[in-house]
Amino acid sequence: MAKVKKLGKHITINANNCIGCRACEMACSAFHAKPRYSSINPKRARIQIVRDLLKNIYLPVFAGQYTAAECAGRTSYILDGKEYSNCDFCRASCPSRDLFKEPDSGLPLKCDMCEDTPALALPKCVEWCPNDALIYEEREEEIEEEAPQLGEVQISVAAMIAKYGRQEVLETIARVAQR
Ligand code: SF4
Ligand code: SF4
Repeated sequence: MAKVKKLGKHITINANNCIGCRACEMACSAFHAKPRYSSINPKRARIQIVRDLLKNIYLPVFAGQYTAAECAGRTSYILDGKEYSNCDFCRASCPSRDLFKEPDSGLPLKCDMCEDTPALALPKCVEWCPNDALIYEEREEEIEEEAPQLGEVQISVAAMIAKYGRQEVLETIARVAQR
């Protein structure tokens, strides 16, 4: 596959600096509200803070790819004396938990790095993080040319088909389109 040069956008997480304030969740949900900034609902955010107050755990996790199937195993990790499950680190919107799903429709959410025109100077979660737990960096990278990625609507339709079946989705779309 051909290599292409691309400006890579990265957010590095410094979990030691995270204080669990959830400003990142609020900023992300406001930016992605329709119309933009019309509401704030952290459940709609594409970043979630895994929090366990008793264990002093605050771990930012960004929404990644949707997956129709949950994984088979569960593992625990102990880091700095704190116990995490592998689900705590997982970025997938998957059937076994409510994380990274639009709360009304259940459709998957994915971090899009706050793509906008014109481009933002910083993604919203980074801009609003008060404690430098999220560090943004752009760097030119040589990567293998990717197959075109599915857009948000295509990912949502795929999720609906996985949940309700192709026929039900096609019939519903046809009914709604006639209204
Ligand atoms: S980069 Fe943008 S889309 Fe991704 S989690 Fe942060 S605010 Fe949300
Ligand atoms: S805004 Fe920063 S410090 Fe606050 S919860 Fe999010 S990552 Fe942690």
